[in-house]
Amino acid sequence: MPTHPLYTRFSAIRKRSFARHLDLFLTTIYLRSVDGRLQHIRQDEYRCFHPAAEERAAYLRSHQARSLGEPFAHGQTVQCLEIAIRQWRAENPALEAELQSIHNQHHCLSAEEFSQLVSSQTGELACEYCELTESDFRELIERGLVRTKRLSTRGSTFEFDCRDPEQGYTGNNVALCCYWCNNAKTDEYSVKEFKPVALALAAVWRQRLSTQASVHNNDQGQNV
Ligand SMILES: [Zn+2]
Repeated sequence: MPTHPLYTRFSAIRKRSFARHLDLFLTTIYLRSVDGRLQHIRQDEYRCFHPAAEERAAYLRSHQARSLGEPFAHGQTVQCLEIAIRQWRAENPALEAELQSIHNQHHCLSAEEFSQLVSSQTGELACEYCELTESDFRELIERGLVRTKRLSTRGSTFEFDCRDPEQGYTGNNVALCCYWCNNAKTDEYSVKEFKPVALALAAVWRQRLSTQASVHNNDQGQNV
């Protein structure tokens, strides 16, 4: 069903999932190397890729660096990591395409598993944590009730999140969640710990929706 709207959304989420996963993989290879060079990467290495907790922590640290000049590994900086990854990608487009296909088979949900995440009640995607649906977020965005500026470049507001990051993309370890919950949860909180936070965020979203609904009850509200 390649032209089905649901498949289009699945493809977008899967593509972003690969971009993040490849970044994590290359960062881990960089850490494991003796001199910080990304060489001789094999497909089977990616297929079996499973980062250790400390490697994931180092990866997150590289993303949280306040400047690219911060030290990272091998006596080098976060910028050296950035350059190594960029260079590897420029030199290996064919291998990257092969890794993407491995990702889609081994490190991501299938289209069928994805379709099971769609609510049978509403026919919509919903965030597993805050429980808001696609149409809730569409309404928030269309009414200008979302402040996130980078959203337009991200396409869908939904992402895959590994409930237990160390287990990766095994079927029942993957949640579908909104961009905001995913960013807030990070790797720090367990699903159980994060749930009340997400429900508090949901209350804020619903407050925005209800306030605006009463203000614009007679105009834009009809369009959503
Ligand atoms: Zn959410």
